[in-house]
Amino acid sequence: MKSRNTIQRSLVLEAVNRLKCHATADQIYAEIAKDHPTISKATVYRNLALLANWGEIRRLEIPGGADCFDHRCHDHCHVRCAKCGRVFDVDMEFVTGLEKGIHDSHGFFFTGYDILFHGICPDCQRSGQH
Ligand SMILES: [Zn+2]
Ligand SMILES: [Zn+2]
Repeated sequence: MKSRNTIQRSLVLEAVNRLKCHATADQIYAEIAKDHPTISKATVYRNLALLANWGEIRRLEIPGGADCFDHRCHDHCHVRCAKCGRVFDVDMEFVTGLEKGIHDSHGFFFTGYDILFHGICPDCQRSGQH
């Protein structure tokens, strides 16, 4: 039998997969609460943290904004719209060799990095023209 914790965790994982576009914890909570109004915000937050630690989902830290959660765990870059705040995937080759440079010059054992570009998304560009 599945434990309560396991069920809650799969609810959270399903919501991240369904929302796809780098939802914040609040958005993920709202998505789950639609079908499961009894689930608490703390439960959702705790499971998001667990899933991110296990590498099931990826936590994306947004400077000056709420963390986002990504269902795509492989290395990829992101671009954030300065107007609406949405975060999009950037389909470009991930730059390799950056870690080596950091290691060589600073003696770090380097575990990864995130690239976040800034811009204005097509939707916001269009609405700005009105
Ligand atoms: Zn936008
Ligand atoms: Zn992404």
